[in-house]
Amino acid sequence: MLVLNETHSSTYLHTSQSGHAIDLPVGKVVCVGRNYMDHIQEMSNEVSDVPLLFMKPSTAIVDMQKTLDIPCDQGECHNELEIALLIGRRLSKSTEDEASQAISGIGLGLDLTLRDEQSRLKASGQPWERAKSFDGSCPLSPFLVVDSLKHKTCFTFQLMINGQLVQNGDTNLMLTPMLKLVCEISKCFTLLPGDVVLTGTPKGVGPLHAGDSIEAILTDHFSISTQVSCSESGNK
Ligand code: ZN
Repeated sequence: MLVLNETHSSTYLHTSQSGHAIDLPVGKVVCVGRNYMDHIQEMSNEVSDVPLLFMKPSTAIVDMQKTLDIPCDQGECHNELEIALLIGRRLSKSTEDEASQAISGIGLGLDLTLRDEQSRLKASGQPWERAKSFDGSCPLSPFLVVDSLKHKTCFTFQLMINGQLVQNGDTNLMLTPMLKLVCEISKCFTLLPGDVVLTGTPKGVGPLHAGDSIEAILTDHFSISTQVSCSESGNK
């Protein structure tokens, strides 16, 4: 029997910075890998000639303000704090102007990554979903509601773990800037209202542990404090 309130695995809704629900569905998350040189260097990865794209399903999304429940039986689970763009209009093969008009929110997302699993997948040439798309792998903050991205494309953001600064990001240092990235994505996959784009992580990724306290900061806008807990996925 279909139980209506269990059709989505979480009760997540996109919300504004002021705590109101945003009237958009919860869609897919399109992510970019290797968009900051300092992170490419820390991982000894190669620079991609075109943005390296992957996706997380809507079931990966959870509220960053709630305790982050990570798997504890699948090796290291790493933090990757990224700027998240909330898409408000359908975009397909868009121009930068259309992309700008379609962005209706700016927030932060964590691209939680099972790093040991990802290394195994990379080594055998397999796609990354097992490492990056599990339930809860995409905690999102509330969004600053905007009309477009036209006048403000520079943001800095920080991740503190147990009071220590571990990531310090600046969108000016992206290899593919945000609007160009959204256009590029829209050439590959149609973006729908309620989809989210994660724009890549700067250096400072590392393992999270149960009990860690996390602070994610979008400079001059907001700060989210949360905790990490850990449970068996049964998926060793
Ligand atoms: Zn990432």
